[in-house]
Amino acid sequence: MTSTEERPTPSVADLIEIHSAYGQDIEFDDADRTTYTQSTCQCGMPLGAHLSLETHRAREVEAFINARLAESFLTVRNQLQQLAADMATDNVPAHLRATLDQIIVENSLRVGLKNPEVENRSAALRKAVKDLGLPHGVDFFNHDGSATFIWQQFHHRVTVYINHGGPFEVEDVPHGPCIPFTSEDPEVVAAEVMRLLAAGKED
Ligand SMILES: [Zn+2]
Repeated sequence: MTSTEERPTPSVADLIEIHSAYGQDIEFDDADRTTYTQSTCQCGMPLGAHLSLETHRAREVEAFINARLAESFLTVRNQLQQLAADMATDNVPAHLRATLDQIIVENSLRVGLKNPEVENRSAALRKAVKDLGLPHGVDFFNHDGSATFIWQQFHHRVTVYINHGGPFEVEDVPHGPCIPFTSEDPEVVAAEVMRLLAAGKED
């Protein structure tokens, strides 16, 4: 959904046409040098017993519809976020701000977008980690909208959890304390990750 945004959006008719014809078969050998052939869609997607051309086409159309829904909601989300920013400066009851926040988060997840608050904090942590010259590690977003960053060492794993509205939580396995290190500040969190990774190298 990110790299395709520059190209003009194809029509549904184009989309159906693209994913309605077979491409060239691909051939591959297994370890015993038996050669197999596999059919493909003309877009290049390998097909097979688990994925017929019809199923593949249906998924592409579904993904297309979901992407249009997400785009459409993004416009509304920008307006809601502007409203949320205005409400933060006025004398607005906390439960109204919480309700608005919930509407933004729930609908973002519903249309397959990320929780914007978690996404922003993930970007801030990624930058703080990069500024310290640390390795990227692995990071991913979970279905509940939270994000997880993992640095795996030989005997040692440092994990940062980002949950909506909570502080960053740093967990160190197997050495860390039972109560994770927490901070609101991505730079403090990145420094803690650096300290733990340096300690982990000495194992
Ligand atoms: Zn295709």
